[in-house]
Amino acid sequence: MKRTKIVDIFNPELIGSEVCVKGWVRTRRGNKYVQFVALNDGSTIKNIQIVFDMNNFTDEQLKPITTGASICVEGILVESMGKGQTCEIQAKKLEVYGTADPETYPLQKKGHTLEFLREKAHLRPRTNTFGAILRVRSALAYAIHKFFQEKGFFYLNTPLITASDCEGAGAMFQVTTLPLSDLPKTEDGAVDYAQDFFGKPTALTVSGQLEGELGATALGAIYTFGPTFRAENSNTPRHLSEFWMIEPEMAFYDIADNMDLAEEFVKYCIRYALDHCRDDIEFLAEHFDKDLINRLEFVLHNDFVRLTYTEGVKILEESGKKFEFPVSWGIDLQSEHERYLVEEHFKKPVILTDYPKDIKAFYMKQNEDGKTVRAMDVLFPNIGEIIGGSEREADYDKLLKRIEELNIPMKDMWWYLDTRRFGTVPHSGFGLGFERLVLFVTGMTNIRDVIPFPRTPNNAEF
Ligand code: ATP
Ligand code: MN
Repeated sequence: MKRTKIVDIFNPELIGSEVCVKGWVRTRRGNKYVQFVALNDGSTIKNIQIVFDMNNFTDEQLKPITTGASICVEGILVESMGKGQTCEIQAKKLEVYGTADPETYPLQKKGHTLEFLREKAHLRPRTNTFGAILRVRSALAYAIHKFFQEKGFFYLNTPLITASDCEGAGAMFQVTTLPLSDLPKTEDGAVDYAQDFFGKPTALTVSGQLEGELGATALGAIYTFGPTFRAENSNTPRHLSEFWMIEPEMAFYDIADNMDLAEEFVKYCIRYALDHCRDDIEFLAEHFDKDLINRLEFVLHNDFVRLTYTEGVKILEESGKKFEFPVSWGIDLQSEHERYLVEEHFKKPVILTDYPKDIKAFYMKQNEDGKTVRAMDVLFPNIGEIIGGSEREADYDKLLKRIEELNIPMKDMWWYLDTRRFGTVPHSGFGLGFERLVLFVTGMTNIRDVIPFPRTPNNAEF
């Protein structure tokens, strides 16, 4: 018999008909006359209740049905008398695919902490919580493609292995096939990378932006959506060593256009999740964060505040608040500063612009003042920075001068500079950390809980 997914079973038209469902047992309870099984197949947060009339089944048959076991049930879908469910299945036929020994199956009924589940990341997708998070994550990924495709942006795949270590966004993981215990050396004792796989040092990318600019200055507007890697030893609830980034890059956009796009984009994604993952988000709100839906609606219904870094620093200095890291013009803002502006001062998402050039990357457009660049960071409640972007320096001479000031090796940069040598245009772009968006939309507080298999310092299990 053809299987119906549980997400499709709560359909009044199916009442009275014969159905087949397959899934994993969440719970079983009952007495010697009747047994109730809650079954979930991952297609929805909802379980379907299966009713076993013990006149038709033996104890022996039901014995393997413990939490975590996988089964196939055929029966009649009927209206349910039970509270909180519209229908249930009166079982006629049962097949057990796989048992799950209650002594050793780690996910027993309820109450596991998120920390415990991180140790069981291979099985945690089978919990209600991670089912919900992973469905929201999937829907957000779809929304991202939908948003850009509908706007006529092209999806560009930038390389994961790169030979330029000048992206300046973070420490890199080296990629090599050289034997680490017996490295070939040049005459002066340095590692002889000429013998390495690519004939030079390579690493995993920290950002696809530089190649993204090549795409944008050809196709007009592109976006990337792929994994990025940062070997920064920052053990925080907002940093992963391997995370997914979305990086749109647009020719003929100035920083104001860039900000408008960023705001429209994140609002679109949040709206999409609310419209398509309501059950999952409600579940997460109920169990983890009562204020979640309000916060999401709040972001949707408010314009993001736009102000300069200089104005932001002034507000922080005048706040009278004691920060762990003291504030003064020129510092790189910490999460506590960003969150103060968003959560306490403005009580709205904030886009900060025009940062000091010394704390931002070389490719950002230099302002007339000689001190700041046309950077923009989008700051969110609970998260801090969710997006970082800028208008890019389109002027060849200014860009070259900055590259020289920062001692960035030219041998790495010639191809990038060619965008400014040939047909240069004003252009802009930004990077959104996908997991930071998923964090925000699910209301989770630790980034390790919004990616199936987190990679962080000292953790590459599963
Ligand atoms: P932060 O200051 O939070 O470390 P960043 O300034 O290093 O971020 P960018 O280099 O601008 O970040 O990267 C663009 C976006 O990628 C950030 O706005 C953030 O959403 C995300 N991001 C950056 N680093 C990480 C990380 N280690 N794990 C997850 N997401 C990240
Ligand atoms: Mn960082």
